[in-house]
Amino acid sequence: MNFSDSEIVASILEEEGYVSTKDIRDADIIFVNTCSIRDHAEQRVRKRLEYLQSLKRKNPRLVIGMLGCMAERLKTQLLEEEQVLDLLAGPDSYRDLPQMMAEVESGTKAINTLLSIDETYADISPVRYGSNGISAFISIMRGCGNYCAYCVVPYVRGQERSRDAASVILEAEVLFQKGFREVTLLGQNVNSYSWNSDGAKTSFALLLEKVAAVDPLLRVRFATSHPKDISDELLQTMARHNNICKAIHLPLQSGSTRILGKMNRGYTRDKYLERIDAIRTFLPGCTVSTDIIAGFCDETEDDHKETLSLMEQVGFDYAYMFRYSERPNTLAAERYSDDVPAGVKDRRLREIIDLQQKLSFLSNKKDVGKTYEVLIEGWSKRSDDYFSGRNSQNKVVIFPVTGNNPGDYVRVKIARFTSATLIGDAN
Ligand code: SAH
Ligand code: SF4
Repeated sequence: MNFSDSEIVASILEEEGYVSTKDIRDADIIFVNTCSIRDHAEQRVRKRLEYLQSLKRKNPRLVIGMLGCMAERLKTQLLEEEQVLDLLAGPDSYRDLPQMMAEVESGTKAINTLLSIDETYADISPVRYGSNGISAFISIMRGCGNYCAYCVVPYVRGQERSRDAASVILEAEVLFQKGFREVTLLGQNVNSYSWNSDGAKTSFALLLEKVAAVDPLLRVRFATSHPKDISDELLQTMARHNNICKAIHLPLQSGSTRILGKMNRGYTRDKYLERIDAIRTFLPGCTVSTDIIAGFCDETEDDHKETLSLMEQVGFDYAYMFRYSERPNTLAAERYSDDVPAGVKDRRLREIIDLQQKLSFLSNKKDVGKTYEVLIEGWSKRSDDYFSGRNSQNKVVIFPVTGNNPGDYVRVKIARFTSATLIGDAN
């Protein structure tokens, strides 16, 4: 999400004649795009500002701005606490950056943290910087209206709004013409995407189908699906199109119905398992990844064990696992006490990570001997003798270089694996 926002910002500034540099020491302006999802993310930004302060001492004309969620959350308080900052722009005020830069040049600090109900940056064609030229993100919605009790997103990124379907499809078409072969449609809960135009409604399943129709050689992925909203219609759409990738990210958060209720997630353990059954029925071989939070308010040992047992039951292929971090002003911060001791949270997180390592190993082991269609993204970071790409199931596959080029599809038979990579040979 943040990467996608940085591309929008780069595009707005390039229109104004600014150019980007690869070496931070050459920059006259530095924008730090920030995340507030966990306290740790904010602490890292604070550390980064210390380094930027040292650059500013060498070049007093250097302008330093903060963009995104942390700017939105802390507003003027940040300008007081971090003297190094000249500018603060929330996620919905990027179009205002050129004017804000003019203010900074005239000697005042600039701040815009207004949230919008309709800004989607639909007409801005993002600059694809740092891209491999093969895969790109397309933001299809902004904000979130789910108010999960632990989550700061609805407060820092504003109300949920969908982007004009035609602009999404056009962006996919342009990317394909430029040689891109994979797009990932992004939103906090893509299942609630909805766009009305001339009395016709485009649901997420329909949007996905339209993007898949751009070209059979364009792969389509998406993130994130919310378990309460992922529909059979979506799974059936995925099944119909070979180029819609067979990988679903379905954040679980907890395996305990009691904790899911406190988290305001809108589903139970059984409902989550029922959705997993539907995925297995409609999409055999589809990988399922997840997000898990360890040590949410009032989580007991039994609740934690339910998370472990559900993980085992589903056999997740991959997971992002976090220790609960209380975020100011969220429902959980207002209503509950963050009462699981730090040591207990860490131990539970460790148990979750250990189990997931075992599950990921089993998932990769199952792939040995199978042949997958792999989209080549480039050369392996470790060796130019190997190509690196991914299969539809979103696993990284490396194999000895063939006569192909990045952007080509090749069939690769898997021979072995490491914890993060499948290794095989093209045939
Ligand atoms: N919209 C997505 C998630 C976006 S945030 C969804 O609903 O699934 C990405 C992940 O960060 C979440 O799935 C959650 O696991 C984690 N997360 C969010 N807030 C957190 C908090 N306060 N503490 C720990 N992890 C958190
Ligand atoms: Fe946060 Fe929940 Fe929205 Fe995801 S769905 S961004 S976890 S509030």
